Amino acid sequence: MVSVAAFRCQIARLRKRGYRFVPQARLAAAIAAGEPVDGLCSLTFDDAPEDNATTLLALLDELALPATVYACPGLLGEPWPFIDPKTGIRLCDQDQLRRIAAHPNVEVGSHTRRHTALDDFGAEAALEEMESSKRDLERLLDVEVVSFAYPSCGYSAEAAAAAPRSGYTSAVTCGPRGGRDLLFEMSRASPSPQDGPLTFELKSRGAFFAARELPPVRFARRLLRPLRWR
Ligand SMILES: [Zn+2]
Repeated sequence: MVSVAAFRCQIARLRKRGYRFVPQARLAAAIAAGEPVDGLCSLTFDDAPEDNATTLLALLDELALPATVYACPGLLGEPWPFIDPKTGIRLCDQDQLRRIAAHPNVEVGSHTRRHTALDDFGAEAALEEMESSKRDLERLLDVEVVSFAYPSCGYSAEAAAAAPRSGYTSAVTCGPRGGRDLLFEMSRASPSPQDGPLTFELKSRGAFFAARELPPVRFARRLLRPLRWR
C-alpha cells in the first residue's frame, strides 16, 4: 500500500542509519543464536497481493534488498479480501507465488491457509492450521517455509507456543503487540500510506505507539499531517 516513491525514501533513510537488510529467517537465526541484531532489518510483506510479483520483485532487484512475503496458500488467485472487490486487486496466483519463491533474495512464509486470525485458537487447532499451511506452501513452492505471520496481528498464547512445534523459526505480529526479541511474538513496524517522515522515523525506531499518546506528539501529528513523502 506504500507507494514506490515513499518506499524508496524509507529504504534510503534506513540505509543512512546503517541498517543491513536480511530475510526474516536470517534475523530469526541471529536472535536464536544470541547474536547482536542491532542494525539488522527484515522487510516483510503480508498477504501476497499480485503487485508483489508485478512490482515488488523488480524494486527489490533494483535496490538490492532481500524480503519475506507471507502468503495464504488457500487464497491464491482470489480477490484480496480486505479491498473493495470493484478495484479488481487480486492475490498472487500459484505461478506468481512460485516466481516470488524462486527469487534468490525473497523468502516466502506462511500467513495461515485462508488468513485466519488465531486469537481464539487452542493448542491443537493452532498446530493444525500452522502445520497445514506450511505443508501446502512447501508442496506448491518446493522450498522450506520457516517463517510465519499472524493474520491481523492476532494470536493466543497457545498459538505462539504452537509456532515452533509446527517447524517455524519465527512468528511475527504487528500493531503494539509482541516484542523485538521474542521469536514467536515478534513485533513489527507497519508503515502506512498516510505516514510522513516523522511517523516513519517513530515507527522504525520502535517508538511510535508510546510516542503517539504523548500530548505534544498529538499536537505535532496534527501540525505535520500535511507533510508527505515527495
Ligand atoms: Zn494479512
